[in-house]
Amino acid sequence: MSELVDVVCHRCRIQLELLDAPVPREAWWTFLDEHAYHPVELLWEHSEARERLDIDYICVDSDIKGDPSFAEYAGDWPGRPLALHPRPFARAVAEIVARAFDTMEAHEWRAASADGPVAEQILRYMDFAPPASELVDNAAVLARLAAVEATLEQLRRATIEPLGDHFGTFLNDVLRGLPTAGALPPDELCAESGPLASPRLWDTERALRLIQHLLAARITLRKPSSDAD
Ligand SMILES: [Zn+2]
Repeated sequence: MSELVDVVCHRCRIQLELLDAPVPREAWWTFLDEHAYHPVELLWEHSEARERLDIDYICVDSDIKGDPSFAEYAGDWPGRPLALHPRPFARAVAEIVARAFDTMEAHEWRAASADGPVAEQILRYMDFAPPASELVDNAAVLARLAAVEATLEQLRRATIEPLGDHFGTFLNDVLRGLPTAGALPPDELCAESGPLASPRLWDTERALRLIQHLLAARITLRKPSSDAD
């Protein structure tokens, strides 16, 4: 193949590079089989649709921890049932994060001096990159849930800080997209888990990872604009 081309399923949020080699070809057949009736798109190097891909997309054979190799994807990828499970929290948050990036790129994002320190404080609680294939027991589920709850609490507390309008609105919007307090009952999450994590828990972690990405990439670096009031 002369040009880099990827195929992506927008329902399952998975992306696969098409390479003319034996194992990637097997992966391509698996992809066809798995996503035949899904909204699948071919992406050329400069396809505009590439901008729709956020970090919640699983990228086969990427360097990202937890993403499957071509061989794993073509074969018995243990994380498959969880990775291909719908992620409503992550999708709701992904749209809000994408709007925030768009506003920043249009230079319309107005920051306040509290934004950076508050983002840094939230980031101390955030380290979400759970591999779908990670095997869990109840102790692991409860530990992961505790990290999620602590982060949700930090996000809620941050909304009472004197933030810029955009960051304040962003936090309120993502909190509406994320599970509310009490929507992640520990006993239910444990019952849903094993050997893979509970889909609800993983979905929430993926949603938080999108927020983590935006905070780390943009908000902590953002200085208040001189015309901010
Ligand atoms: Zn699909």
